[in-house]
Amino acid sequence: MIPFNKPYLTGKEGHYIYQAVLSGKISGDGIFTKKCHEIFESRWGFLKCLLSTSCTDALEMAALLLNIKEGDEIIMPSYTFVSTANAFVLRGAKIVFCDSRKDHPGMDEDAIESLITPRTKAIVPVHYAGVACDMDKIMSIANKYNIWVVEDAAQAIDSYYINNSGFRQPLGSIGTLAAFSFHETKNIMSGEGGMLAINNDLFIERAEIIREKGTNRSKFFRGQVDKYGWVDIGSSFLPSDIIAAFLFAQLENLDDIQTKRKKIWDTYYESLKPLADKGLFSMPVIPDYATNNSHMFYLVANTPSERTHIINHLKNHNVSTVFHYQSLHKSAFYHNIHDGRSLPETDRYTDCLLRLPLFYELSPEPVIDAIHTLNI
Ligand SMILES: *Cc1c(COP(=O)(O)O)cnc(C)c1O
Repeated sequence: MIPFNKPYLTGKEGHYIYQAVLSGKISGDGIFTKKCHEIFESRWGFLKCLLSTSCTDALEMAALLLNIKEGDEIIMPSYTFVSTANAFVLRGAKIVFCDSRKDHPGMDEDAIESLITPRTKAIVPVHYAGVACDMDKIMSIANKYNIWVVEDAAQAIDSYYINNSGFRQPLGSIGTLAAFSFHETKNIMSGEGGMLAINNDLFIERAEIIREKGTNRSKFFRGQVDKYGWVDIGSSFLPSDIIAAFLFAQLENLDDIQTKRKKIWDTYYESLKPLADKGLFSMPVIPDYATNNSHMFYLVANTPSERTHIINHLKNHNVSTVFHYQSLHKSAFYHNIHDGRSLPETDRYTDCLLRLPLFYELSPEPVIDAIHTLNI
């Protein structure tokens, strides 16, 4: 059976973990955490990076930093992972869900402005499949109403938004805050892991405090204060340096990983396009303002029953496929709180989207051959 995902090891992970252990500082913010921070900040230009234990935790840090509280409203797509919403629900906020675009599962930027009220505190665009939301549109709405933007960049490492002047802006460097994931299903990973990118210096000092249990321990380690203590709310969001050592091995090999994934993605696209042209299903769309980091390859079936048919057909040909998010506005937890607006595009992706296997060591040919024998 071809699995849906298989975590890729570069071969250096064990070596760096051993070095981290030998260094004698295995807790957070050791040598490998610093090395990772430096690469992220210099290569992609994030103002300040802080590794976290997951993207979920980075999103929770974002909600804490923005002082989200009961009664605040947060606009985000309904077609996303639960953590995007939970981070803000934990602070007492109400989630105002935005429908997806017709051509892409990302949020419909033109639908955002009508959702804004005096209680709106933040917009949380999710760069689905690592494909940018239209950030110029989102940032101009945010600036007009004076609200924050937190990018859920969980899937979006090394992907870019091409702005109106043709300049490539790394995803995660545009909003005030951005959250990345290094879960084993992402392009580069550390099993579990994440990162908060901070693009406004107003938030840097407090982010360090919140990440270190509400203490100014980071300042203490830099010698800026002579003792550390409890100065704010916080929790334990920093990963062990062992996690960072693993991530560093992946980060070093990022170009190789991206090249390989892109090749698989392009092979899928070229080989399946003739079937999409015949109307069997639709293919991912990469808007002009977005690049493709080949995080994910998906198909959108014409109907839910056709999706079931495709999934079963591929299973019979030893290929595992999975569908993805379930509309959060219809979830068991939130459907009673949601304001009742229907979100037809979100529901369509919930019912019709399926993801094909995509991982470093995959040979896509058997998957492609199996799809070519589809009978819909
Ligand atoms: C993977 C993912 C998350 C959660 O990441 P973790 O590191 O597992 O917490 C959040 N949002 C999106 C869009 C994701 O794809």
